[in-house]
Amino acid sequence: MGTGLREKVVIVTGGTSGIGEAVTRRFIQEGARVSVMGRSKDRLDKMAEEFGNNLLTIQGDVSNYEDNRKIVEATVKKFGKLDVFIANAGVFDGFAKFMDADPKAVEEAYHYLFDINVKGSFLGAKAAVDELLKTKGNIIFTVSGASFYPDGGGVWYTASKHAQIGLLRQLAFELAPDVRVNAVAPGGTLTALTVIPPLQPFVKIIDNETKAKNIKKRNPLQIAMSSEDHVGAYVLLASDEARAITGEIISSDGGLSVRGLG
Ligand code: NAD
Repeated sequence: MGTGLREKVVIVTGGTSGIGEAVTRRFIQEGARVSVMGRSKDRLDKMAEEFGNNLLTIQGDVSNYEDNRKIVEATVKKFGKLDVFIANAGVFDGFAKFMDADPKAVEEAYHYLFDINVKGSFLGAKAAVDELLKTKGNIIFTVSGASFYPDGGGVWYTASKHAQIGLLRQLAFELAPDVRVNAVAPGGTLTALTVIPPLQPFVKIIDNETKAKNIKKRNPLQIAMSSEDHVGAYVLLASDEARAITGEIISSDGGLSVRGLG
């Protein structure tokens, strides 16, 4: 028996790298057909070549409603329906400190990061919802440990990841009983999550080895997590096995909630 993803049609935003790419690969392996929205034409073309007819690629920006509408329309045209929308694209503030940024940078960074992490989630859900109502499908947001705790980023990232939880809860409430709305909250993961330009002057770049050590130190299971470590949570939430689950967040973070007081 498979994981129940066979014949499912899924959109993944930010699906050409990191967690989104790992989810896309696994879902296709499980028999799903996937549409990916990404920004890099090069990456999109490479994935299109690798996956052929099981993958649709669209170059676009999640903060633009028209691009979200286009991928939903193209998906239904190619694959006949939409079962799952995964709002995964995101950007980072690089742990920039509020006190270091001047007011102009604070404001620019706010608009830049909220446009992608928060508005992108709103607009993706809005563009997908009519098709998801037809299939009784579901939405999955990629949130973060920063949705619950401080020090998973700076103020911009932490506030944006908290905001996604508000969207998730209210949407799960409004879209029941037809569409389930859930999230996966990864902890620190070894990806190349981009630090937004307005905050780059205030950020110290660290090498991957140090990053891996830091991630390991910070979670009780002492895992330097890779994108693949989170994929099982998406598989569960996307499938009909999760038909009784909505408004929930699966933390895939090495146990951040049980770090203890010591
Ligand atoms: P990543 O940079 O590999 O993936 C993010 C993807 O989003 C990239 O492909 C990027 O091109 C795309 N993207 C960015 N802005 C976009 C836009 N405006 N329109 C379309 N696509 C856009 O990094 P990742 O770590 O895999 O990030 C995926 C998600 O995981 C993000 O939402 C991030 O906040 C979340 N997350 C990451 C970590 C971590 O430590 N890496 C931890 C918790 C949560």
